[in-house]
Amino acid sequence: MAIVILYIEDNPQNIRLVRKMLDTGGYAMLDALNGRSGLKLAEEHVPALILVDINLPDIDGTEVTARIKANPKLQHIPIIALTANAMYGDRERYLEAGCNGYLSKPISRRELLETVGYFLNEGHTPPATDG
Ligand code: MN
Repeated sequence: MAIVILYIEDNPQNIRLVRKMLDTGGYAMLDALNGRSGLKLAEEHVPALILVDINLPDIDGTEVTARIKANPKLQHIPIIALTANAMYGDRERYLEAGCNGYLSKPISRRELLETVGYFLNEGHTPPATDG
C-alpha cells in the first residue's frame, strides 16, 4: 500500500501540481482545502507526512501545525510548511509553530521528493529524469 501524505492547501492548482509530483514518487495524496478539514482528515487517516500551506481560509497553517503537534495521536507526523511567504523571520515562525521542515513556492519536484523522502526516512532518490 502506498504511503499516504496529506496536503492542506486552498489553491486547487497547487493541489494538482503537488499531486502529480508525489505521484511520480509513488505516494498517495489526500487533500484538504482548509485547516479544519485538514485536521479532520489527519485524525481519520493518520498520514505518514503532512504538507501544509500557511495562508488558509480558516485557521492558518501555523495553527493547524500547533494543533497537530498538541495531539498525542498525531504529534509524531512530520509537517512540512509549503508557502509563498518568504519574508525575513517566516522560516523561524513556522519552525517555532512545530513545522519540521519548510519549502518555499514555487516548489520543484526534486526538492519536494527529496524533502519528503528525508522526513519519511526511507532514503528516497528522486527520478533521474527530473529537470
Ligand atoms: Mn493559501
